[in-house]
Amino acid sequence: MALIVQKYGGTSMGSTERIAQVAKRVAKWARAGHQVVVVPSAMSGETNRLLGLAKELAPGRLTPDYYRELDMLASTGEQVSVGLLSIALQAEGQPAISYAGWQVPIRTTSAYTKARIESIDDAKVRADLNAGKVVIITGFQGIDEAGNITTLGRGGSDTSAVAVAAALKADECLIFTDVDGIYTTDPRVVPEARRMPSISFEEMLEMASLGSKVLQIRSVEFAGKYRVPVRVLSSFTPWDIDVALEAQSGTLITFEEDEQMEHAVVSGIAFNRDEAKISVFGVPDRPGIAYQILGAVADANVEVDVIIQNVSKDGKTDFSFTVPHPELARTMELLKDKVVPQLGAAGVVGDPRICKVSIVGIGMRSHAGVAAKMFRTLSEEGINIQMISTSEIKTSVVIDEKYMELAVRALHRAFELDMPATA
Ligand code: ASP
Ligand code: MG
Repeated sequence: MALIVQKYGGTSMGSTERIAQVAKRVAKWARAGHQVVVVPSAMSGETNRLLGLAKELAPGRLTPDYYRELDMLASTGEQVSVGLLSIALQAEGQPAISYAGWQVPIRTTSAYTKARIESIDDAKVRADLNAGKVVIITGFQGIDEAGNITTLGRGGSDTSAVAVAAALKADECLIFTDVDGIYTTDPRVVPEARRMPSISFEEMLEMASLGSKVLQIRSVEFAGKYRVPVRVLSSFTPWDIDVALEAQSGTLITFEEDEQMEHAVVSGIAFNRDEAKISVFGVPDRPGIAYQILGAVADANVEVDVIIQNVSKDGKTDFSFTVPHPELARTMELLKDKVVPQLGAAGVVGDPRICKVSIVGIGMRSHAGVAAKMFRTLSEEGINIQMISTSEIKTSVVIDEKYMELAVRALHRAFELDMPATA
């Protein structure tokens, strides 16, 4: 017998028919002798619908009081899901009980719409499990110290599930979703992309932060911190497939680096179009420049990603960095109004038509020349590299958005990711 946490995403919970399928799948695991805790998302589209209603009534409101009510509102999507799933399980003859985050309770900080989980009380859940029930807990939400309902940020049910698994010391956290695992890259861009049977935690963290949308990044961080074994698998297989088979499917996020295993040098390719580039020209090259530019940007709560500063010529230099797309206009305004005049810089331009393409692999630690191969591959395709950033296990380039698919395909081929793994 194992203790398993299962998370089902919005598409998996998208209709009463789909919820009935989820109930059958969960009941199958319970009948096989496992203790099961389920953490579902809201039905697909529901969170957007709820937030849309708020926007209709109060477009552009940004006060803390408003954010409190947004969480009150958005949290109801998951409450509907847990109620329905529990009803479906009981109809299957499987004893089940549902809880909203605040009933468990799942304690969080008070940062509405982006709260962080602080602790989870497992007493009630354990008692129910020991009484033979499946326990269903709302994803995406908790309660702060003052008793306010909070939510964890979009996609936050992944994090709820991993956190619940950590609190219960579950044997595995299964993230059931509409894809059947983690792929070498997005199969919609490269049809030859392959599912990876396993991926190291560090690679998954890079992939998630680089724009692979399969798991919310915070859930991966949580899994790393508490060493929760997480598996990503499909909820679109027939519900009655063999439990033992299902338990081996998808992609497992692993922690131990198996010494015996020959790692592929590059395991995956991530890309995203969600960033924009800003360049400040003719900046006087003296100490404190990066701080003056990026300090102002950070004070405005804009997250900066890739940064480059050129060597100076005649005491002047150019300074470029990327910011999230939706923050481009605001950041440009800030720079034009304040920073550029203060610095005596020549000017600033913003370019929304860029994308970031990254190769990721822990094998890069022990292999030289990987980045060079990436640059050669791109040059052979005539793709100009605008910016480069590296870490121990990844190399990212910023290029013109129109070459994104070409770049991803060429790199996927060059690093032989379409070949079956040999190890
Ligand atoms: N329902 C929330 C959202 O749409 C949380 C989740 O699905 O993970 O963002
Ligand atoms: Mg999701």
